[in-house]
Amino acid sequence: MKNDQAGLYIHIPFCLSKCGYCSFYSISSVHLIPEFIKAVAGEMAFYKNTFHAFDTIYLGGGTPSLLSVQQIDDILKAVNNNFNIEQHSEITIEVNPGDVSLEYLQQLRKLGINRLNIGIQSFDDPVLKFLGRRHTSKEAVFAFDAARKAGFDNIGIDLIYGLSGQDIDVWKQTLKETLSFFPEHLSCYQLSLDEKTPLYKQYKKEGLKLTVENEALDFFMTTSQILTDAGYIHYEVSNFARTDSLKSRHNMKYWRHTPYLGLGPAAHSFLDCKRWWNKAAVKPYLKDISEGKKPVEKSEQLSTKQLALEALFLGMRTKDGINFELYKKRYGSDLLADKRPIIDELIKNNLIELKNDSLCPTLAGMAVADSLALI
Ligand code: SF4
Repeated sequence: MKNDQAGLYIHIPFCLSKCGYCSFYSISSVHLIPEFIKAVAGEMAFYKNTFHAFDTIYLGGGTPSLLSVQQIDDILKAVNNNFNIEQHSEITIEVNPGDVSLEYLQQLRKLGINRLNIGIQSFDDPVLKFLGRRHTSKEAVFAFDAARKAGFDNIGIDLIYGLSGQDIDVWKQTLKETLSFFPEHLSCYQLSLDEKTPLYKQYKKEGLKLTVENEALDFFMTTSQILTDAGYIHYEVSNFARTDSLKSRHNMKYWRHTPYLGLGPAAHSFLDCKRWWNKAAVKPYLKDISEGKKPVEKSEQLSTKQLALEALFLGMRTKDGINFELYKKRYGSDLLADKRPIIDELIKNNLIELKNDSLCPTLAGMAVADSLALI
């Protein structure tokens, strides 16, 4: 089945500076990029015969747009030399608005990259500054226009909301401006702060408050309302697409337990009930590969019970929810029969609904998706 083809993720662990809210591992030692590219090609060789074929490739980070066109080409050539890549694969790259020129984007398009994810985060300069982003709203506008001119017809925009004291009208203005570009895909993430991030420390020091629960709900509902009114499908808690075919095929693999291979530092992989992940730090990653070893930090074998729980957690975050028949086939559990009383209760509270032989979260349910998984 087409949907069961595996996805390939390549993590580019370099960022010129650290955004205040970011807890992902990245380093600014860009002089290591050439060595990293050789290493990632070396890592591919370990998995040459493990996955039958891929139909999505995702270059994420970090900041993949710090790589030159030639370096991205080298990675894609190595991918094609080591793996079977299906025709009409979705090939995405994340870009930072401050990094891209029209020529750069045209070259990426020529390499066969057919989907762009632009980390715009906001069209408001004070918000961008507060988040510690390197780009301005003017650069964000330029990046989107240049991407269209370069021929990209599948562009996603990432946005963040829920900052301390953020006025909902400023957020509505960012959404309005975003919609004026008519992007194919939108990811709207609520700001959450890991204790190790600089912004968390700033919040603590200045006594700032993260958006409280009812405000967060207000932002979530307003976002959903504005974007669905504009014709978008709210298909996952944070994700919106203009049509079914414009949903992120790659990310859907994570939500559906479809196999995926992650290459690069900290990347995660999943196949046959097994999950493994790489060492996060770049130097140990490079060292392992130079010594002919897989740079795997740890792996775990998931029991059917663990997978079933995960599927519940992931399914309750998506509009399509959980298909009973598929769930039973995969995890051996009859969800409807096993959980009927609690399901009835949640239906009564308008948090879930039964649709097309599936258990689906309502919009109110999606807003509290993580707690729904506890049924
Ligand atoms: S560019 Fe992305 S990965 Fe890099 S620090 Fe900022 S949020 Fe984190």
